[in-house]
Amino acid sequence: MTEQRRVIARVLSAADDHPDVEEVYRRAVKIDKHISLSTVYRTVRLFEEAGIVERHDFRDGRARYEEVGKEHHDHLINVHSGEVIEFRNDQIEKLQELVARELGFKLIDHRLELYGVPLEETKPSDSEEE
Ligand SMILES: [Zn+2]
Repeated sequence: MTEQRRVIARVLSAADDHPDVEEVYRRAVKIDKHISLSTVYRTVRLFEEAGIVERHDFRDGRARYEEVGKEHHDHLINVHSGEVIEFRNDQIEKLQELVARELGFKLIDHRLELYGVPLEETKPSDSEEE
């Protein structure tokens, strides 16, 4: 069990995307074929409670997980493709601190998700423009 947890931790640590539990399971089972989906569920929940991973909800009905401790970033979700783009904007960071301060708070954390569609997928086609 401890060894399986280590495998799952390694999978989450190696992930540079935001896998859901099924995806973590697919990757973990390649390393240890005895790992079960329910073990992955249990372990990921355990890691979340321990503050090792962060759970995200990108509104597609699946909880996604990301290792805590990466440099802070926010997320932009392409609602057409489901792609998740990480970004960091210092102006937004400062603005959020300012808003909190004006409301009488010291900001200790925040979450920001932008939902969008690619500009080129919103424009009318070239033939319509011409
Ligand atoms: Zn991220």
